[in-house]
Amino acid sequence: MDFAFTADHERFRGELRDWLGAQVKRPWSLECADPALDADALVAIRRDFQRALNDAGYLGMDWPEEWGGRGATVVEKAIFQEEMQRADAPPVANGLGLALLGPALIHHGTEEQRRRFIPKMLDAEELWCQGFSEPGAGSDLASLRTRAVPDGDDYRITGQKVWTTFGPWADWIFVLARTDSEDRYGGITFFLVPLDQPGVEVRGLRQITGDAEFGEVFFDAALARREHIVGEVGEGWRIAMTVLSYERGATSLADPAKNDRYLADLVAGLRERGALGRPDVRERLARLLVDNEVMRANGLRTMANLSSGDAPGPESSIDKLFWSEYSQRLSDEAFDLLGAEAQLFGGSPGARPDMDWATELLWSRAGTIYSGSSEIQRNIVAKRALRLPTR
Ligand SMILES: Cc1cc2nc3c(=O)[nH]c(=O)nc-3n(C[C@H](O)[C@H](O)[C@H](O)COP(=O)(O)OP(=O)(O)OC[C@H]3O[C@@H](n4cnc5c(N)ncnc54)[C@H](O)[C@@H]3O)c2cc1C
Repeated sequence: MDFAFTADHERFRGELRDWLGAQVKRPWSLECADPALDADALVAIRRDFQRALNDAGYLGMDWPEEWGGRGATVVEKAIFQEEMQRADAPPVANGLGLALLGPALIHHGTEEQRRRFIPKMLDAEELWCQGFSEPGAGSDLASLRTRAVPDGDDYRITGQKVWTTFGPWADWIFVLARTDSEDRYGGITFFLVPLDQPGVEVRGLRQITGDAEFGEVFFDAALARREHIVGEVGEGWRIAMTVLSYERGATSLADPAKNDRYLADLVAGLRERGALGRPDVRERLARLLVDNEVMRANGLRTMANLSSGDAPGPESSIDKLFWSEYSQRLSDEAFDLLGAEAQLFGGSPGARPDMDWATELLWSRAGTIYSGSSEIQRNIVAKRALRLPTR
């Protein structure tokens, strides 16, 4: 591996760090732990922060200039994610729109679609959610059954999507729907559908943290306009698969940066209890610290490969496996080593002041499921990295 940040990268990092230092008035983890702020208030903070990022030119950085881009490299995108985590900045409100749909429109959309949707996506005027998964189609996404049938020039969509992140706040959803029941992959089409219309119902799903950031979306002959199909009818699978690969690598430096903050809190908590001298504690901490550095090195390897023009390889599955399982291990260790202080929800009396370990522990359960479960990642590593025989 040959990787070093260039002087330009370091200049970019310095400017961004200064900007974030001035803009992040209160760390995001403290906003989330504030009992006075409900879910709507937190979404409003994310919207405002996204607008500020957009005005400063930090969104869609690698998109063409006419769509707000500035020719950024994959390394600069990764530095952006890393610094956002380091600063504990509010995440953007339109995460899935910016990560998946924006690039899909730039690569596969019409000029009219780009003009209509991209500016409002960037400044968070319209929020998007992703309608891929269904009750019977998750890892095996091509089993999806939501169908779209022609109705004059347009289509009518009927079916159900589930685990729709941000569904309760979104204005639009990008949906994979079946336009041909015979052709498993070639019978899927990529639609852009407004949620505020007859025939669409969004129900919040309450998760174990107590919040309801996800939705189930029910379509009953909902209108999907022909001009809002991305690509051609039947091209949805191909578009969805290329779209899902766009963000690979961009977040590979973000998780180690987030873990740096969490580890600092764990070390501080153990120091306060006078536990840092215990050999068993030191060994457990050392393992966590070393593994975080291993994760950073793997992230840099991904960066090096992507920068030299290679397609993302199985190392992005190793990244995913490692960070998702590591974050479960880290919060389990904090629960064990810090006791009640870590087990109380952030903001409650007696909880650690700067860290909400309880929410982190509950959230970390989801990491091994979304964006390809651990079993699916292991299958990829087995086939593509280890070249194990398949049945
Ligand atoms: C926090 C969160 C946010 C999400 N946000 C969205 C969203 O915004 N939009 C969206 O469309 N979806 C979203 N999802 C859904 C997510 O994509 C699916 O949960 C994921 O693809 C797994 O599908 P499933 O839940 O149906 O589980 P299944 O695919 O039914 O899997 C069940 C179990 O079987 C295992 N398994 C499945 N296939 C294999 C195999 N071939 N080999 C070995 N083991 C296997 C899995 O690893 C898992 O343990 C989200 C999920 C979560 C948890």
